[in-house]
Parts: sequence; structure tokens; C-alpha cells
Amino acid sequence: MSAELFAVVAAIVRRHTAGGGRTIPLLSRYDPKERQSSPAMPFLFQRKIGTKHEVMSDTTVVNMLKRRCVELAEQRPGFLATSFTPHDFRRLLATDLVNSGLPIHIGAALLGHFNLQTTRGYVAVFNEDVVRHYQGFLDRRRQARPTDEYRSVTEPEWLGFEEHFDQRKVELGGCARPYGAPCQHEHSCLRCPMLTVNPKMLPRLDEIEDDLLSRRSRAAHEGWLGEVEGLDLTLTFLQQKREQSQRLTRITPVSLGMPGVRPEGPS
Ligand code: SF4
Repeated sequence: MSAELFAVVAAIVRRHTAGGGRTIPLLSRYDPKERQSSPAMPFLFQRKIGTKHEVMSDTTVVNMLKRRCVELAEQRPGFLATSFTPHDFRRLLATDLVNSGLPIHIGAALLGHFNLQTTRGYVAVFNEDVVRHYQGFLDRRRQARPTDEYRSVTEPEWLGFEEHFDQRKVELGGCARPYGAPCQHEHSCLRCPMLTVNPKMLPRLDEIEDDLLSRRSRAAHEGWLGEVEGLDLTLTFLQQKREQSQRLTRITPVSLGMPGVRPEGPS
């Protein structure tokens, strides 16, 4: 966090805790896009209406930003033609972090992105920045390792490296177990957290589910309760893998967009 941002956040925290011994009130926020309420958290952007504390809505924040832009425009006319949304600040923070040297994959984890491409669209970085940050990260890691680990690779090692990628292909998609590691889960991929289901194999998941359900029905009929328990667990993992894969199909590159330009004239 930059010193300026730290000072601003500290000022907000001080405002909420003024009076001594107080902590920031814990509030729940309803997310209209996810259609669910968050757990109680110390939201920084909250205000007191009457006796009640409430998290500021997006509209309130947008209106506040508009008013600040009008004020700033008295000294910097460019702000008159600029509008911000709260989401812009998430993007600005991400860009600031990545441009300050945070590896982009760690930025992706912080932002909760499952796909690095989403973060690349999100932060204002370009291909060469991505490569530069990643190589910088590797250089820093290498400096922390013994130098003899960086000898030239031998022919068998190179062959093993090439085979590595073929060995990661499984029926339902890709296996993400670490390089050089054998499968420790007896290839029970559906239950394995290392499996990423290829979206084109979703119909195959449906077939497997039908098969599991018919086996479950037979097991229940015969009274094989241990088998029922195991099949229920596999069905739960199958559902999770299906949701994960469907989510991947919905991820599209995020447009950076441009700040809106207000029409000329009094507003
Ligand atoms: S069980 Fe897991 S680790 Fe083993 S091959 Fe399947 S996905 Fe990879």
C-alpha cells in the first residue's frame, strides 16, 4: 500500500473509531449481483443514518465521487469530464500493486480471480509487463536458491519435462499435480482437487452422473450403505467440478473501458 493510500485508510479508520476504545462497527452488506448478504465485516465505507450504521450503496459512492470531481475541477478542469465508479478503484489498486512489483499471479489471488487472463484485463498492464514481472519474480526466487540448482538440464530431464505435459492429460481435462510428482490418489480424478475439467467434457460428466445415480439406486436397494455413502461423496465432487467448469466457460476477457465523458455545458 502506498503511503498516500495508507494515510487515507488510517483517516477513515480514525473517523470510525473516534471517541476512544471503539472498533469499526461490523455490518453485513447485501450484494445485488450475487444476491446474498456478506458476513458481518468492518466495512470502511459505512455511515450512520439516525441510530443505524449502514454500508454505503454504490449509488451513494458514485454521487460522492461526482461531487468530488466537480470540486477538483475548479483547479484541474480535466476532472469535469471524468466520472468514476467504485469498481474503478479496485482496478486502480490492482494496477498500482502490479506496477509496484507484486507478481500478477499473487494479484490474481488477492482479487479472487480464478484466471490470470481476468487479472490481465483488469489491471492496466501489457504483455511485456506481464513477462517482466514474472521474470523479475523468478529472478528473486532464484537468488534465494543454491546456484547448483541452475545447471544445464540433461537429456533425460528434458525428455521427462516434455512428457510431463502429456502425463497431465486425463479423460476429463487436466491434472495440475506438481512437476515430477506421481499421482498419489490412484487416479480417482473426479474426487481429486488437482483435476480441472475441460468444459467440452461437461456432457461426459452428465453420463458419469447418470451411471453413479443408477449404481446408487442399486446400492440403496441392496442395502449396501457403505457404497451409498461413497457414491454420494463422489456425486458431491462431481457437482463441484461441474460448477467449476461452468464458471470457467463464463469467464471472458474484461474490457478496461474508458472513463465516461460528460457532455459539454452546465450539469
Ligand atoms: S487423481 Fe488427481 S493427481 Fe491423480 S491423475 Fe487424477 S487429477 Fe491428477
